[in-house]
Amino acid sequence: MKLLPSCHDVQTDLTEYAEGALPFRRRAGIWLHLLLCRVCAAFFRGLMALPGVSKTALAPPEAAPDAALKALAAVQAALGKPKP
Ligand SMILES: [Zn+2]
Repeated sequence: MKLLPSCHDVQTDLTEYAEGALPFRRRAGIWLHLLLCRVCAAFFRGLMALPGVSKTALAPPEAAPDAALKALAAVQAALGKPKP
């Protein structure tokens, strides 16, 4: 195996690299590749940011502001629908 893996090899193994699940020689090769390759480094940064982005995207929505609830209640009252 060559010391410096290809971009394809790096991107295939990045999840395991981030988890520290690769043998030392493989980790070292990926680490070196990430220092030299801006594309893979950006890919790695995106991968590392994913849990935070997912947490934000999947978080329950904040409660509607009071003004919005009052406006909704007024519209529902005007339409004759029951209030939430
Ligand atoms: Zn690369």
